[in-house]
Parts: sequence; C-alpha cells; structure tokens
Amino acid sequence: MSVIGQEAGIEHGTVKGYKQHAYRKIESCDACKKALRDDRAAARRGERPERAKLQRTSRRKTAEAVEEQTVATPVLLPVPPPPQLPDRPEIGVPIEGRELEIGDVIVFLGNHHRIDRFESYTGSLRAALGEGTRVACSGGWGMTVGPRSTVRILPRPAGGAA
Ligand SMILES: [Zn+2]
Repeated sequence: MSVIGQEAGIEHGTVKGYKQHAYRKIESCDACKKALRDDRAAARRGERPERAKLQRTSRRKTAEAVEEQTVATPVLLPVPPPPQLPDRPEIGVPIEGRELEIGDVIVFLGNHHRIDRFESYTGSLRAALGEGTRVACSGGWGMTVGPRSTVRILPRPAGGAA
C-alpha cells in the first residue's frame, strides 16, 4: 500500500517527518523544515542528535529529497582577499598633461618614453583636449597630451634636477 500523497502519519517537526514529506511528495511544512535546519546546524556544530534515525530513513530518499538537500546545503567558498595595490613606481605616477616637462619618462602600455621635445599639435582632437594640447615626443614616438589629460610618468628624481 502506497503512502504517496497521504499526509496522515507524518511525524511533523522531525527530520524523519521531513523525509516523509519528500517521500510522499507532499510539500514540507515549516515545522519539518525547521527540524531539518536544526539538525543540519547541529551537524555543523559536531552534534548529531538524530544520526541513527537519519541513517535508517536515508535509504528511502526520493529524488526530490536528494535535490532538496543539495540545494539546502550552503557551499561556503573562501572569499579571496581584496587585491593588494602595492606601491609600484614602475607603472608611473599620474600627472596632468600641462605638468609634463622635457626629461620626464612617460609610462605607456608598459613602455617607458623619455620626452626629448614637445611638438605642437594641429590635429582634430585639439577642440576636445583643449588649448595647450601638445605632442610629447621621444625619438620617433609621440603622444598627444591635452593640458588636463592624465599621463603616467616615472617619479621624478628628488631635488628636481632631472
Ligand atoms: Zn511536517
């Protein structure tokens, strides 16, 4: 005789009752859910008050019960620590474009470019970048720099004598 769908006989408020809900395909009541939660909590604390009962009833787990357990058990992944942002002078310090001087070393895409001259900029970005836009040149390399553009340079030597 099948008990599927029959509520009579369920031991509500116990882990066994919770299993009975699942086996009988009747949605679990709050009392039984609480019993299961309490049991899980106890298990996490190292206690296992209903261990023996669980063992006996576990063979009758339905697919739903197994799924429910899988979902209900939280998986605690270790939270990675926030990335360290060490002082890295090799990636440069930000300055405004108008502060750039000949001798400064621009850090751009991992490369270093020591400015040997400035050239005037006549391109179409002038309106966007502002009056005072110039091209910082290093040999055959050049970078268009607006007065308020942020540029990363290697820290200037202390004392200012570059
Ligand atoms: Zn119940």
